[in-house]
Amino acid sequence: VLVLGIETSCDETAASIVARDADGRGTILSNVVLSQIADHAAYGGVVPEIAARAHVEALDRVIAAAMDEAGVRFADLDGVAATAGPGLIGGVIVGLTTAKAIAFAAGKPLLAVNHLEGHALTARLTDGLDFPYLLLLVSGGHTQILLVRGVGQYERWGTTIDDALGEAFDKTAKLLGLPYPGGPAVERTAAFGRADRLALPRPMLGRAGSDFSFSGLKTALRIEAEAIAPLSDVDVADLCAAFQQTATAVVRDRIGHALDRFRAAFPDIALPALVVAGGVAANKALRAGLEAELGARGFRLVAPPLELCTDNGAMIAWAGAERLALGLVDDLDAPARPRWPLDQMAAPLIGSGH
Ligand code: ATP
Ligand code: MG
Ligand code: FE
Repeated sequence: VLVLGIETSCDETAASIVARDADGRGTILSNVVLSQIADHAAYGGVVPEIAARAHVEALDRVIAAAMDEAGVRFADLDGVAATAGPGLIGGVIVGLTTAKAIAFAAGKPLLAVNHLEGHALTARLTDGLDFPYLLLLVSGGHTQILLVRGVGQYERWGTTIDDALGEAFDKTAKLLGLPYPGGPAVERTAAFGRADRLALPRPMLGRAGSDFSFSGLKTALRIEAEAIAPLSDVDVADLCAAFQQTATAVVRDRIGHALDRFRAAFPDIALPALVVAGGVAANKALRAGLEAELGARGFRLVAPPLELCTDNGAMIAWAGAERLALGLVDDLDAPARPRWPLDQMAAPLIGSGH
């Protein structure tokens, strides 16, 4: 089957054509992503109203480019998928409404995809992964550990009780006068710093379960920075290094609990996989920390290519194709949802006894 996927839930306007064969193997025929980073840089974060307008202006072109590059027409499609939430609601409405219009005009089924499901299923497209596996999603908007049991079957084992990890990187950068987006800037700067100069608190460390908290870390960093100010380049580098090292330690601890829980639930899987997704997955220190934690516990790290870890249309097209294969299509009145926890999705009809 051939599916068009549209993603507009945050600051990327994206469209992609993905093919899925009868054996469940996927091929990306095109994957066009237009980042709005420049539009938001002056504000140090994504401005919802600017994002929605930018999606309206760019989406037609982005879809046309994806169709051209793949060499397909609307008539060739088997389904039209779009992010229906969670996300910035203005942007979600732009993408979902466009998908509905195409689906209606071309007489194709609509697939209203949960953005998080897109991230969760990407590793099946890139690595042909079998269920079940664990997902660590670390982006600007989300920090979650999910058990992925099957299409539409997810359990949230951990989430942040305050800031997302990418958000914490972005706020750290802003505090230290580094450019937006903060993650790459903090990582580059941390390379010149000494992580052990400051001892920052490690929120949730050793606590039961796999929830995260990053706002205390951010506050501690601000207090340290104010105490040292005015900050030299060396100070900034040391603060970045301390933040990054502490964040990595927290993620390792939280994921460790989830790995143990997975092992107990599925003792027969020889080398289970943890998939990383989201922009923060680009961070090399975090990845190295994860690799060490996983290696010690007999798990393997599956890291899809970065352009598929951050927001893109291919993950939405692929999730749509997986749903379509199970007959999980949506009505044209499917709502756009600002909030839509993945573990509160409607369970698939397949295999549920109905
Ligand atoms: P969503 O949660 O809806 O996907 P998003 O668009 O903010 O939202 P992504 O595009 O996946 O998420 O990722 C962007 C985030 O990743 C930003 O917070 C950015 O600072 C962070 N990031 C990118 N590169 C790095 C890096 N090398 N180290 C740490 N964080 C990074
Ligand atoms: Mg983004
Ligand atoms: Fe995302």
